[in-house]
Amino acid sequence: MDYDVIVVGAGNAALCAALAAAETKKKILVLERAPEADSGGNSRYTAGLMRVAYSGVEDLKRAIPDLSAEEIARTDFGTYTEAQFFDDMGRVTEYRCDPDLTEVLVKNSLSTVEWMRQKGVRFTAAWGRQAFNIGGRFKFWGGLTVEAVGGGPGLVESLTSIARKSGIEVWYQARALDLLFDDDGIKGVRVKRNGKTIEVKSKAVVLAAGGFQADPEQRTRYLGPGWELAKVRGTRFNTGDGIRMGLAAGAAASGNWSGCHAVAWERNAPEFGDLTVGDQFQKHSYPWGIYINAEGKRFVDEGADFRNYTYAKYGRVILQQPGQFAWQIFDAKVKAQLRDEYKIKQVTKRVGNTLEELVSKLEDTNQAAALEEIRQYNTAVQTDIPFNPNVKDGRGTRNLKINKSNWANTLDTPPYEAYAVTCGITFSFGGLKINADAQVMSSDGAPIPGLYAAGELVGGIFWFNYPGGTGLTNGSVFGRIAGRNAARG
Ligand SMILES: Cc1cc2nc3c(=O)[nH]c(=O)nc-3n(C[C@H](O)[C@H](O)[C@H](O)COP(=O)(O)OP(=O)(O)OC[C@H]3O[C@@H](n4cnc5c(N)ncnc54)[C@H](O)[C@@H]3O)c2cc1C
Repeated sequence: MDYDVIVVGAGNAALCAALAAAETKKKILVLERAPEADSGGNSRYTAGLMRVAYSGVEDLKRAIPDLSAEEIARTDFGTYTEAQFFDDMGRVTEYRCDPDLTEVLVKNSLSTVEWMRQKGVRFTAAWGRQAFNIGGRFKFWGGLTVEAVGGGPGLVESLTSIARKSGIEVWYQARALDLLFDDDGIKGVRVKRNGKTIEVKSKAVVLAAGGFQADPEQRTRYLGPGWELAKVRGTRFNTGDGIRMGLAAGAAASGNWSGCHAVAWERNAPEFGDLTVGDQFQKHSYPWGIYINAEGKRFVDEGADFRNYTYAKYGRVILQQPGQFAWQIFDAKVKAQLRDEYKIKQVTKRVGNTLEELVSKLEDTNQAAALEEIRQYNTAVQTDIPFNPNVKDGRGTRNLKINKSNWANTLDTPPYEAYAVTCGITFSFGGLKINADAQVMSSDGAPIPGLYAAGELVGGIFWFNYPGGTGLTNGSVFGRIAGRNAARG
């Protein structure tokens, strides 16, 4: 069994790599550890949101050619330039993101989504999650405008079916175990397929098997004590295999090994993601309310920035709270603004007609302290500044130990609601070192011949935090480059 290129994984990065490889070479094999129904890794769990740079609606039409005149008329798409994307990456990663890889990511974001569209993947504008309707006109507020039709499941199914039509072979329940290599480079993969271990030869291998977040032992080892207590938002199959295989073949480790993407996630969610619920266990409307921990205290600035720039780092903050949980508290004034994920039935929700009644229902919490904290918060809100969710409105609190910087509303209109959340980990940030051609670099400093990598298992791009919607774009951009270069040899 000889292939031109073997791709390890069948998520977004892997399938983009396989499709790009198939433009030059014929014999491409995709190895997927999961059964077909659970295939597609974390990519299947997403909303399909992809961050791309664009200078106006004409650019967006390269990704979404079927935008109608009526849709364009009722929407202010604004712009999200390459400079803004680059700045966002710098700012949220505290200027640690690899500048060369970040430049490749930003500059290829739109053209890569356009390439996916040309292959047959369909995109739309994310009116539901990323725009507010003000006076009959939608305005996009966070630089995140493009979404795959059908979300993550739609994206994975579309890429898989295009791969099949392109003659790419996909093996399910085929777990890559090790790379085959000698002094000249990579020669193939040892794989366990349906319980049998075999060796499959290839001229090149693309590793796209995700991070280590689904393995509690590696979480605790690399992210630190307490991380075994986090819930996993996505697939159970990303247990660091690709990273381990790369390191064993001499790859350099790179990036923020003690960092990860982690969010507010339903406190009683299962240990791993559930595809029937998808990403709806997340609870992302905290900028409109406040957080209270088990001691009855606020512990974070809920309005520090737009949600797209804070949500990925606040999971860690929740994990650090006593009991690893917190309550998000809202009043009736913002009820209509809560995202759809608050309406699912799998929520830990408490309701009260007075603040006293609400806090009396917050189990595991110092209720007297919580009531006092809410009262102090209410008196600190600068009510003379108007509330505006479309901009950082500066409507903050004054003189609190932890102020809220924007969107501070008093909690004064019943019924009051509280939602219990814990930390849900999305993906780990540390991984393999690659260059701008997606070649895996050895710890001696040279590319490992025949070895490429893309997606979650690459280190050096995300540190501490992450601008929402960049994970899929990252996988697509580097997946495409990896596949193309792997096929060209
Ligand atoms: C709930 C949720 C919502 C999200 N929403 C968004 C969003 O809207 N936009 C966005 O940009 N990002 C989002 N993300 C992040 C995004 O999912 C990831 O950044 C991206 O999907 C990673 O793609 P990938 O191809 O690198 O990994 P994955 O899609 O996870 O693919 C890894 C693949 O490798 C396979 N695999 C693992 N080990 C082996 C092995 N030994 N052999 C063979 N195969 C193996 C897995 O089964 C899987 O198919 C979200 C994540 C989650 C969990």
